[in-house]
Amino acid sequence: RTVYVNGAYVPENEARVSVFDRGFLFADGIYEVAAVIGGKLIDFPAHLNRLHRSADELGLRVDASNEELLAIHRELISRNGISEGVVYMQMTRGVADRDFAYDTDSMEPTLVLFTQSRPLLETSTSKNGMSIVSVEDIRWGRCDIKTVQLLYPSMAKMEARSRGADDAWLVRDGMVTEGSSSNAFIVTGNGIIVTRPLSNAILPGITRSALMSYAAATGTRIAERTFSIEEAKDAAEAFVTSASVFVGPVISIDGVELSGGKPGPVTMGLRKTYITESLKRAN
Ligand code: PLP
Repeated sequence: RTVYVNGAYVPENEARVSVFDRGFLFADGIYEVAAVIGGKLIDFPAHLNRLHRSADELGLRVDASNEELLAIHRELISRNGISEGVVYMQMTRGVADRDFAYDTDSMEPTLVLFTQSRPLLETSTSKNGMSIVSVEDIRWGRCDIKTVQLLYPSMAKMEARSRGADDAWLVRDGMVTEGSSSNAFIVTGNGIIVTRPLSNAILPGITRSALMSYAAATGTRIAERTFSIEEAKDAAEAFVTSASVFVGPVISIDGVELSGGKPGPVTMGLRKTYITESLKRAN
């Protein structure tokens, strides 16, 4: 694979980032993951907007223009022959001698991008659904910023795996916040889609927002409100959204089967809508 590091396209085994990079020492960095289908980027402008928002919140400098970032994405997709997969982009504050205090202006931000080739449209999750277990949400108070501080979500996912499930839903005060790396949705008995409103407690998912606008345009009723893990277990259907899963059906929560243990019809309809509509707008 060819990867991108600070202005250069290099073979992955020659890519280098300093051990003094604040991304490595302090998780002082942000990232985005954009899906690729048929060699084209899905929801790309929205991912760039969120990158800028994350950077502003942390006082990180984004030196590259949006045009340059798009060009780097396209170059990697082309060099690595990515038809279906993702492009990962990470930006850190840069390199400085280790100190909690920092001076952003005197530092050069680090920019790294790489691709991963993998099927996204036809996956075992999309066909068979996924099992979820609830795990306590003990993350920090700014989950709305897409930082590379991903240790707890990673541990939550491993906790789910050790309990025989595919993934974790994070729960705070009995209420579902989001998935370990996705936004969480339920579908009520009368077909209303419910998801938690945006706040500092969850990531403003790009897929969440795109799906909600496509769903609203086709007349689906959506309620943005908090819901408990107990309500989720009683729901008609449940699903997650993320850039690499799109709309992923959930078939059980804490061992309780939903929609007969199969992906639900509303979920699969939304998955189809999302894929069709986002492909029309792909870059
Ligand atoms: N929530 C969390 C905690 C995530 O890590 C992610 C994506 O990785 C999402 C939600 C989904 O966001 P998006 O649809 O922008 O990928």
